[in-house]
Amino acid sequence: MSLFDTRTVFLLCGAMGGLMALVLYSLKRNYPPSIKGLGEWSGALLTLFLSGVLIAGRGHVPDLLSISLANLLFFLGLYWAYVGTQRFFGLTPRHGRWAAVLVLITLAHLWFTFGALSQFARLLIVNVMGAVFTGTHAWLVYRQKPLSLSRGLTAGSLAAAALLQVIRVILALTQSMTDNIMASSVTHQIYAVGFAFSVLLLSIGLILMASDMLRSELEQLATRDSLTDALTRRHWNMLCESELQRCKRSGRSMAVLALDLDHFKAVNDTFGHQAGDKVLIAFVANVNAFLRQNDHLGRFGGEEFSLLLPETSLEQAKLVAERIRMDLAQSKLSPSCTVSIGVTTSQGGDDTLDSILARADAAMYRAKATGRNRVETS
Ligand code: GH3
Ligand code: MG
Ligand code: MG
Repeated sequence: MSLFDTRTVFLLCGAMGGLMALVLYSLKRNYPPSIKGLGEWSGALLTLFLSGVLIAGRGHVPDLLSISLANLLFFLGLYWAYVGTQRFFGLTPRHGRWAAVLVLITLAHLWFTFGALSQFARLLIVNVMGAVFTGTHAWLVYRQKPLSLSRGLTAGSLAAAALLQVIRVILALTQSMTDNIMASSVTHQIYAVGFAFSVLLLSIGLILMASDMLRSELEQLATRDSLTDALTRRHWNMLCESELQRCKRSGRSMAVLALDLDHFKAVNDTFGHQAGDKVLIAFVANVNAFLRQNDHLGRFGGEEFSLLLPETSLEQAKLVAERIRMDLAQSKLSPSCTVSIGVTTSQGGDDTLDSILARADAAMYRAKATGRNRVETS
């Protein structure tokens, strides 16, 4: 019985995989080089596509091509995709062990094709090792947190491919089966088409993973300062504006702190710009370490920061400011540094972000004028 023409479905899915290879190649050319692994994925899909074309040519082209070369390309494609994923997640691929496995599989496969002919042994080699490759790859993607839709799709399609190969091995052990993927039995056809579809789903998963990564890089660029990881001024303003609206609705108050490091020009002049950068990074990390989840620290430029504390009274905000000031003054940071802080809170219905910032700034300048390393309120 034949459900559909396996060769056609296989070629169609293979051709779509080939097109996906092109899509990934164009992503590689257009995406920033910080997104790694796209070239490997593109090469892997192209290799799997070529392998699929050779497999579909079984009976029409010499066995050396449709069986042996197709098998080698199949494993190279699976491995290349795995290497791409390792690089995508910033891991360093170790080729030695896998290269040895590839050589062993190829030699064994050649032996069971042209030496001691055994379709059963070939089927075992291809599917057991295929399940190991795809299963390992699925586990690698699954382990990366957070598990987004794109990662779930990629891990799922790899796991499905691994499962299909395990089922095929079990069927081969319990029924008589050939390793000809074009054979017309229903189980064989379901396996072939299921596998071809899982390669197609894998391509889509990889493309979605790459665009997710691009989106989060762009988001990071737009919302985070690249030196200190504090929020950018634009993003901080946006969060502050929406918190202010919430305050107006609920009648609660929010606190805003203006922070400016003292004599920072002298820190740079004495110890160098790089030492100054280290102070900025350490300052932001220390402040962030004891903020609540909804508190937001923004970098307004140079050594000037603003801190938003939602649902906070002037008294509470002053305590937070004192803690930040003391922490920096008493830290063993080298070069040492101090901070002047102005504190204010939102005041009722027609208060605006501009006037809140102006009050916080005025208080901060008073702290500077009265000796620095101080907290003033307004
Ligand atoms: P004050 O106590 O009055 O605030 O004095 P100050 O020296 O801190 O203030 P001023 O505005 O005169 O100097 C700010 C310095 O911050 C000047 C600039 O070189 C330095 N700066 C700005 N951005 C960066 C940066 O990204 N890295 C480093 N290392 N220094 C920076
Ligand atoms: Mg300063
Ligand atoms: Mg300044």
